[in-house]
Amino acid sequence: MEHIADTIRKLKKEKNAVILAHYYQNLEVQKVADYVGDSFGLAKEAMEAKEDIIVFCGVHFMAESAKILNPDKKVLLPVPSAGCPMADMVTRQDVLALKDRYPQAAAVCYVNSSAEVKGVCDIACTSSNAVKVVAGLPNRQIIFVPDQNLGSYVAGRLPEKEFIPFTGFCPTHHRITVQELLEAKKAHPGAPVLVHPECEKQVTDLADFAGSTKQIIDYTLESDQKEFIIGTEMGVVDYLKDIQPEKTYHVMSQRLICPDMKKTGLEEVLHVLRTEENEVVMEPQLIHDAYQCLTRMMELS
Ligand code: SF4
Repeated sequence: MEHIADTIRKLKKEKNAVILAHYYQNLEVQKVADYVGDSFGLAKEAMEAKEDIIVFCGVHFMAESAKILNPDKKVLLPVPSAGCPMADMVTRQDVLALKDRYPQAAAVCYVNSSAEVKGVCDIACTSSNAVKVVAGLPNRQIIFVPDQNLGSYVAGRLPEKEFIPFTGFCPTHHRITVQELLEAKKAHPGAPVLVHPECEKQVTDLADFAGSTKQIIDYTLESDQKEFIIGTEMGVVDYLKDIQPEKTYHVMSQRLICPDMKKTGLEEVLHVLRTEENEVVMEPQLIHDAYQCLTRMMELS
């Protein structure tokens, strides 16, 4: 493994490439990345990347966002089949139908959506800035796609807005039950429960803290407590154990694993670096339309 990692590091320099990885990636992939982050942090890094090639270790919509924000770069997705089931739950037609029905509403898409969906939405958001983004919009009515749970989390914090929710969900976070949370609390008494707002409302309501992946990480870094129950994808636990080994982290459920995020290994990263295959290619018009949606979010955040 270390041999492959060394080859990747060498090749990355030779090809003037940068490797970006999501916190949910396998730890071996996180270790060869130049930057590990959540959707917002990764979008920012991609936008500012100076290298010729961006190897994006994540899922398809993230690599698409990198291409939209920095279209002159070659963006490579190591495993093209790594998608996001939640992003696939909403289509451009769904958004257009909602806009027809609610012409006064602003259309907000979670960044976990396709470029086509972004192309017809007014603004994107991530789980770390969703409340701020929606609060900053002049519209009272808000179409929010695709995540029903993040939508309900934001709606709960902005009662002055009228939310027109959608039915999408993240299969990894949505299936976590109150029972699992209570069992984790019983097994680790006193440890705060930190969950992602992609979990159902009854789960986030019982947690000590709900926030984006980065906000969960920051909570553990800033807290005096030594033990935490983590209610998001288990790659975050791997990341935390690596950067802050003196503290203890318990994943809330062994089911907190995103199969798509785990498709990428070192072999796949090395392969795209060598061959430059699996490039993200998009129509210029689509890049243009989706760019507005993403950059409005970056400006507001
Ligand atoms: S964890 Fe959920 S939202 Fe994130 S990529 Fe996997 S399925 Fe999509």
